[in-house]
Amino acid sequence: MPDDAYNSRIIENAFIDSDLGIILINENKQITFVNKWMESTSLCSGDDLLGKTLAEAFDGQLSPRLIRAVDSAIDNGRNSVLSQKLNKSPFPLYKGDGERQLGQKLQQLIYVKTISDAYDNNYCMVEIFDVTEAVRREKSLIELGEKSRLAAEQLSIEEAKMRAILNSAKDCIITLDENGIIQTLNEYTETVFQCKKEQLYDKSMATILSPDMPAGLSRFTDMSGLLEYTSKLSEAVELKAVRCVDEVIDIDLTVSRIRTEEENSYVAIIRDITERKKAEARLHYLAKYDPLTGLANRALFHERLEHAIQVAKRENQIFPVLFLDIDRFKNLNDTLGHDTGDAILKVVSRRIKGSLREVDTVCRMGGDEFVIIIETIHSVNEVSRIAEKIIENISKPIRIEHNELFVTVSIGIAIYPDDGDDYTAIFKNADLAMYEAKDEGRNNFQFFSQAMNERIQRRMSMESDLRKAIAENQFVLYYQPQVDINKRCINSCEALIRWIHPDKGNIPPFEFIPLAEESGLIWDIGKYVVEQACRFVSEITGRGWHDFVMAINISPRQFQHPDFMSFITAACEKYNISTANIELEITEGLLMDNTEHSVTMLRRLSDAGFKISIDDFGTGYSSLAYLRKFPLDTLKIDRSFVIDLPENPDAIAVSRAIIGLAHSLRLHVVAEGVETQEQMDFLSVEGCEYIQGYLVSKPIPSSDFMAWLEAYACDAIGSE
Ligand code: C2E
Ligand code: CA
Ligand code: CA
Repeated sequence: MPDDAYNSRIIENAFIDSDLGIILINENKQITFVNKWMESTSLCSGDDLLGKTLAEAFDGQLSPRLIRAVDSAIDNGRNSVLSQKLNKSPFPLYKGDGERQLGQKLQQLIYVKTISDAYDNNYCMVEIFDVTEAVRREKSLIELGEKSRLAAEQLSIEEAKMRAILNSAKDCIITLDENGIIQTLNEYTETVFQCKKEQLYDKSMATILSPDMPAGLSRFTDMSGLLEYTSKLSEAVELKAVRCVDEVIDIDLTVSRIRTEEENSYVAIIRDITERKKAEARLHYLAKYDPLTGLANRALFHERLEHAIQVAKRENQIFPVLFLDIDRFKNLNDTLGHDTGDAILKVVSRRIKGSLREVDTVCRMGGDEFVIIIETIHSVNEVSRIAEKIIENISKPIRIEHNELFVTVSIGIAIYPDDGDDYTAIFKNADLAMYEAKDEGRNNFQFFSQAMNERIQRRMSMESDLRKAIAENQFVLYYQPQVDINKRCINSCEALIRWIHPDKGNIPPFEFIPLAEESGLIWDIGKYVVEQACRFVSEITGRGWHDFVMAINISPRQFQHPDFMSFITAACEKYNISTANIELEITEGLLMDNTEHSVTMLRRLSDAGFKISIDDFGTGYSSLAYLRKFPLDTLKIDRSFVIDLPENPDAIAVSRAIIGLAHSLRLHVVAEGVETQEQMDFLSVEGCEYIQGYLVSKPIPSSDFMAWLEAYACDAIGSE
């Protein structure tokens, strides 16, 4: 057993060589021991330190807390620890000279302990641990921890952003493994496919694709092949997909391959193009079909007719084209409203289809015009039967809401190849034949004929003649007196135009007025008539017959011209005559054809002072109800009734009715075309006030008419 001294020696050596700093301080607070570590880090020798107090030894560089700790260990036997955190470097200790120069003290953890000797004297031992390295390591660990926390945070922000992007995308974004098994998908995929995510995870992409694949893709029996193939395409493929609710939708599919070290995978982007496809289909439909009736439109008709011509040419066959137009449709549309008009068009198109076979083509060309191509017929009689059937079916009553309507049609027929061997010719000739059917009183059908064509040719050459006539003023006005039966004098006349053609001589108005009306030339002709008539009235009133009335024929097209009112008013002003000197003769048809516009126009003309008369009364749709609506002055009984007077009972009845009606509405009555004394006597007895006709005078030139006035004018004033 070694003795105590030996032990003390060993312990002292252990202290001296310890890697901690050790300082012993006696009860007088003098340093009694410092070990080597202390000497080397403080760069003081033990001799410099021993016997000094800590404050002396370290030259006042110690923290008051350390001094206090040492004092309280010696005085009160209390141990303390000066943690590195609060008191980084209580002693001015340095690792070496370099650090000392830089002022980099060691970081220290200090234990201040009381040690008692056998005599109850309190010593103090100060143990100093160099924690510089530990602190540095700890610090860098903390920094590292912080960095990785930040990095992790950043990553989750990025991920959240990615998610948000994926989920706000208006395309389905699906990731798939190499075999086409669904791994992830965004929210929009759920919306489009109407599935919950869980229904799709781990399922094959095949579950959402329709098995009915486009031609190029049907060869792939497994998803991996399909994905691999589509990932190489530069554009999207159009496919059909199936929703979880078992509905088929149209999609665009784009696939990209993602190659990482570990695996192959795919991203599929699916765009729902169902709406776009629908719109495309609708556009396609609209390009070829009439949306109202569902019939083929003009474009498709063109295709079909060209096709029919080719087939017929090849097979050496004939086929007819029927051009069909609803009679007075504009009238129906204006009076009953457009909804009813549309309803009529639908019924008519159904009835046309119902009269034909499935293979025949019916097209709506626009408005109320339809064209029919009849495939293969054997005889022209067969065509007549078809046309008759259509006319018969359409003329059955149509019930729309609470109304029962009757609609008729006119049909023109042209047969390939006799009536035209190309699209333009056959179509035009069917159209011409339709016009012929209209001329023939509507509600019938007409085959195209060469005579028709000649008539058209004549009409066309007449149109150019008419233009020339306007330019060269080949017209002249004649005047036909109207006689006051009771007073047996003349106070009015009708202006009637005459065309003196340089080669053909006198062309009667019924030959050119309808053409002028059709071609629009009537406006220029009408201007001439109004101008001449007003000028002549000014001559008459200039002679003192101030109340003289000049009747002027106004055709519908003239009446509807936007400048008509201003033109005729200006003419009266120009010749300084009263509007009351002018009576405008319009036809019943005009009143019926465009009621609203006509009422307004007539009201304005009447308010301006013009007299209004209804020409050819009794030949149109006379109805008491509508006559009341218009501001009228005179009814003119049509010549066709007068001709049969006084024998024919029908003519008698009609004339009586018209005269009675006119008087009940306080209108004047003029009978036209009175040729015999008997006719005049009858009319006079019935109460008709004025007559016009060959009995009195034919229409005559202005100079002759002036002579008539001189002799028979109602007022004596004129002769003054
Ligand atoms: P309208 O208005 O009914 O004119 C009466 C027609 O009957 C005139 O034919 C006249 O000459 C004829 N007439 C008169 N009295 C008799 C008679 O006793 N017996 C027979 N058989 N006929 C008689 P016109 O002059 O050939 O005119 C034919 C039609 O042309 C007129 O029918 C009228 O609708 C139209 N018209 C004539 N001049 C004009 C005009 O300046 N402007 C317009 N828009 N139309 C006109
Ligand atoms: Ca007339
Ligand atoms: Ca007339």
